[in-house]
Amino acid sequence: LASRDAHPDPSVVDVSGVKIGGGNLGMIAGPCSVEDPDRMHRIAEHVRASGANLFRGGAFKPRTSPYAFQGMGIDGLKLLREVGDQHGMPVVTEVTDPRLVEVVSEYADMLQVGARNMQNFALLTEVGKSKRPVLLKRGMAATINDLLMCAEYILSQGNMNVVLCERGIKSFDPATRNLFDVAAVPVVHGLSHLPIIVDPSHATGRPDLIPSCAMAGLAAGADGVHIEVHDCPEEAKSDGPQALLPDQYRELFSQMKSLAELL
Ligand code: PEP
Ligand code: MN
Repeated sequence: LASRDAHPDPSVVDVSGVKIGGGNLGMIAGPCSVEDPDRMHRIAEHVRASGANLFRGGAFKPRTSPYAFQGMGIDGLKLLREVGDQHGMPVVTEVTDPRLVEVVSEYADMLQVGARNMQNFALLTEVGKSKRPVLLKRGMAATINDLLMCAEYILSQGNMNVVLCERGIKSFDPATRNLFDVAAVPVVHGLSHLPIIVDPSHATGRPDLIPSCAMAGLAAGADGVHIEVHDCPEEAKSDGPQALLPDQYRELFSQMKSLAELL
């Protein structure tokens, strides 16, 4: 079902009115974690004014350490919904457990399956039964074929609204958090009709590298860009060191827009 043979034209995924794929760019921005309300409103206002069309924030966080901040849970979902509605952006948030798919679907416009859960088949089956579009991130040690087969789990349950995301894979080199596989974009487009976006924030883990990788992703044909933005990265509950400041995001967005007009 994910194959281009089955479906030669590119798919367009509609996230509560925002289209991704077939020439439509999904520009996702927001903090790694849902945090306090004032901060969420401030960040949303900034990224919206810069041009973002989808707002993100994690309420359930898959953390390396069980002692690290695990997210605000249901309160975070409610806050994300309120902020998205107030600023006119559909919201994307991660679902980490099949038992949470129902409640996350109630509040979110798009369900994110994170890299660590890409091959959580019970979760894929459950999001496949949901009516919400899914953002499926590539596992950190997954091949492109693995990613497409995971998309297949979702599609085979009847949910055809899947957007893939290249967010970097593990490498031996600690210079960047992960290794940004920009070639995954045209490879996926050759094999599948599904849209694919890039996430230079998690791919590089370095704000100074995000602009060039975002531009490279778009130049390679990506259907959107996912970027973490925070107004005070030192105080962020997660992924502060890789966040762009709102002004940096605004500048990058105008560059991405100019590039997209050329493509
Ligand atoms: C995230 O989007 O904050 C996240 C945890 O991403 P990934 O699953 O790609 O690490
Ligand atoms: Mn993050």
